[in-house]
Amino acid sequence: MMNHTCVICRWEAGLDPLTGGKILETENFFVFHHQNLPASVPGWLIAAPKAHILRQTEFTPEILRELYELQQKMTAILEKTTRTGRVYWAVFGEEVKHLHFHMIPRPEDLPQEALGWRIFGYKPERGAGKLEIEGFCDFIREQL
Ligand SMILES: [Zn+2]
Repeated sequence: MMNHTCVICRWEAGLDPLTGGKILETENFFVFHHQNLPASVPGWLIAAPKAHILRQTEFTPEILRELYELQQKMTAILEKTTRTGRVYWAVFGEEVKHLHFHMIPRPEDLPQEALGWRIFGYKPERGAGKLEIEGFCDFIREQL
């Protein structure tokens, strides 16, 4: 079920433009690039349920397995494509309530003050623009 005022539901339904498009879809989830542009971290991906779900406790064990496998697969691809030594996984849901899981390839040169959850406030001098993100998403799709 979708919520027409929810940004993630609107991206999933194709009602609003999604930079980089859907990178991967499974039965219950889809993966896309973080949409804040310019992007602080190229490769910052988000996995979200296709349905307007707000809490992890709504998932069945089968759906949780699907999510975990999806996160593992995307993490392996991020490790390979960005050569990061660590991919952060995070769930907050404070700005957007529709459940979504961040997968963030931590840049090796990330400043100390942006480590951990502080990466959410990280604003490098030069972020990645729309073309760069679209190119990155195409590249990740080729690795699937
Ligand atoms: Zn939604």
